[in-house]
Amino acid sequence: MTERAPLSPPPPAAHDEVPLVEAEGLVKRYRLPRSAPWRPAPAIEAVAGVSFRIRRGRSLGIVGESGCGKSTLARLVMALERPDEGRIALLGADLAALSPRELRAHRRHLQMVFQDPYGSLDPRHKVGRIVAEPLRLEGAADRRARVAEALEAVGLKPADAAKYPHEFSGGQRQRIAIARALITRPALIVADEPVSALDVSVQAQVLNLMRALEAEQGVTYLFISHDLAVVQYVTAEVAVMYRGRIVESGPTAEVFAAPLHPYTSALKDAVPGLVPGRRRRRTPAPPADADAGGGGCPFAPRCPRAEARCRAEAPALRGVAPGREAACHFV
Ligand code: ADP
Ligand code: MG
Repeated sequence: MTERAPLSPPPPAAHDEVPLVEAEGLVKRYRLPRSAPWRPAPAIEAVAGVSFRIRRGRSLGIVGESGCGKSTLARLVMALERPDEGRIALLGADLAALSPRELRAHRRHLQMVFQDPYGSLDPRHKVGRIVAEPLRLEGAADRRARVAEALEAVGLKPADAAKYPHEFSGGQRQRIAIARALITRPALIVADEPVSALDVSVQAQVLNLMRALEAEQGVTYLFISHDLAVVQYVTAEVAVMYRGRIVESGPTAEVFAAPLHPYTSALKDAVPGLVPGRRRRRTPAPPADADAGGGGCPFAPRCPRAEARCRAEAPALRGVAPGREAACHFV
């Protein structure tokens, strides 16, 4: 890995006790296309009642298979979309109560890194302009110096500012995206599958970088991935999502050492990295009519332990040990 120069120290934390993010009962529904003109448009709950807290220095991982609502949750936290129900507070300020102007001011505390290192960097612009983009709202005078600083923090050279994205590899592009996210010295970076598009060897470098930045910069992540091994590497806390709901949460090391929810166990069994030599086992896709019947545990149709009660009554997410919650009748 290239040498990296640390950025100048982050500003002192003003709100150490206030959670960075506090989400309460978030629901986001999408209308699906009508199957026929005379039928009502069906809706799905992409996020179906999610609450969590992120504390400074305790990065939160969101893990779950494709389609479980992770990116929707990220968009809600970034205030790119509004929840249909529930509320989100960022550094104690209710996002729904902020004026557009206040929201823009708040944005500097919150940056995002996306999955696709090719699509997320405008190919027509030089790296310097791309990395400086979040400063546009601030009108910073020391733009060049801050771009150089951010590039060095991610292991690139200040001279790279004069190049175009196509001159870089996928891993380097993701470093550029991280430099852009860092440039406002945000308290929180929402990273949605930040290494999923990279080769495994490059993944480790980018994850190492993100972890180092957490320690050096005091940046905290909301780190989203379908890959449990990746989440485990970066985050202190984890929430496991299934069909729009959190089914288990707690300190990452504990959750993965001793999963409480059968879905977490299934995810863990499907990860090759954790059990040397074992091949990835595919968890079966949920049946299309898994929601039919309603009322019961959303995981019941796939759960090896499901009994009559599970199909009749949805288990609530509840505290089952210090710092640990699970939504399962049998925990
Ligand atoms: P993940 O990131 O975990 O793969 P998403 O949040 O992207 O999951 O999607 C959750 C569910 O919501 C999926 O069923 C997806 O098809 C649906 N969905 C996401 N965004 C939209 C949208 N803009 N319109 C309609 N459905 C959507
Ligand atoms: Mg996604």
